[in-house]
Amino acid sequence: MYQPLLDKLKASIQHWANKNLSYAGKTLLVNSVIFGLNNFWGASILFPKVVIKKINKICKDFLWGISDGTRRHTFLKWQLLCSPKLEGGIGIKEVLSWNCAQMVKWVWKLHNKPQSIWTRWAHTYVLKGQSIWIARQTISNSWYWNNVVKMKDLLLNIDGSSSLAMQLLERCTHHARFDTNAAYDLVRSRREPVPWHSIVHGNSCHPKNSFTGLMVMNDSLPIVAKLITRGLFLVNRCVLCECSMEDLHHVFFNCSYSRQVWAAVATWVHLPLSFSLDSIVQAFLSESRNGKQRASLMASFHFIWKERNSRIFKGAKSSSDSLCIVIKRAVSLRLYGSFA
Ligand SMILES: [Zn+2]
Repeated sequence: MYQPLLDKLKASIQHWANKNLSYAGKTLLVNSVIFGLNNFWGASILFPKVVIKKINKICKDFLWGISDGTRRHTFLKWQLLCSPKLEGGIGIKEVLSWNCAQMVKWVWKLHNKPQSIWTRWAHTYVLKGQSIWIARQTISNSWYWNNVVKMKDLLLNIDGSSSLAMQLLERCTHHARFDTNAAYDLVRSRREPVPWHSIVHGNSCHPKNSFTGLMVMNDSLPIVAKLITRGLFLVNRCVLCECSMEDLHHVFFNCSYSRQVWAAVATWVHLPLSFSLDSIVQAFLSESRNGKQRASLMASFHFIWKERNSRIFKGAKSSSDSLCIVIKRAVSLRLYGSFA
């Protein structure tokens, strides 16, 4: 029954898989193309867990890439990536919660569209005068109706009473229509807001630089020290300075190569020079910082990581001076459309 959906999803993915998109571009596609398909199907069907798992797998394989039949290593958990930017993610719609949000519409309809044919049918033939809030899943009900009851239970479990659940339903109303995004916000899992979200996701930052910044902030890059903890046999040697072991702190803040880059960039944008992630975040949060400073920080993370990968996978090296020019050019092009 669900195979056509999964096939269509895979076909859409394969169309884009060889386009050499950045992670940022891929996340946009995951949200628009892939979940567009889910939107069509998920509005009337509560997907079984196994289907949700398969959809998630297709999305993850696409985002992280497949190499030799296995997904590339990543340390960024899918659930975290699906969180809103404010909570440290990138705002991909989580399939299960999005599916539930769409199905909540039927409970909403019972209260807000009394004249609709479906509502009249449900009240007359299924509820038979009972309130939806006391309805139970039974084997005599259809699978579809039991899913509607499941969504009622989901709403009740958020706050515990039917009156509060009805208030939640009211929050899903926008100009007399059902607002799926508002429902999604009710049923999705939540995380604590992160202080650095405005630094990473500023409008001045290029999306692909923001994505690398997000990976740095979440300590999710496939750094050699981490890969070794996963059982890979690798030589742990920083390819930027060639004299220390590679971990996150070293690559971006302690490495002599990165320090030269960061010192030049910090001077260029008038930021205090500091060599730890915490102190840099504090420097941004304690004072009002401009878009150029945010963009330069994210670009520095991105191009230092790119230089590291270029040395490992292509054997190509750039000096720290050259990399500074690349960073300044990228930031200037992003902000002003030119680089003098
Ligand atoms: Zn180094």
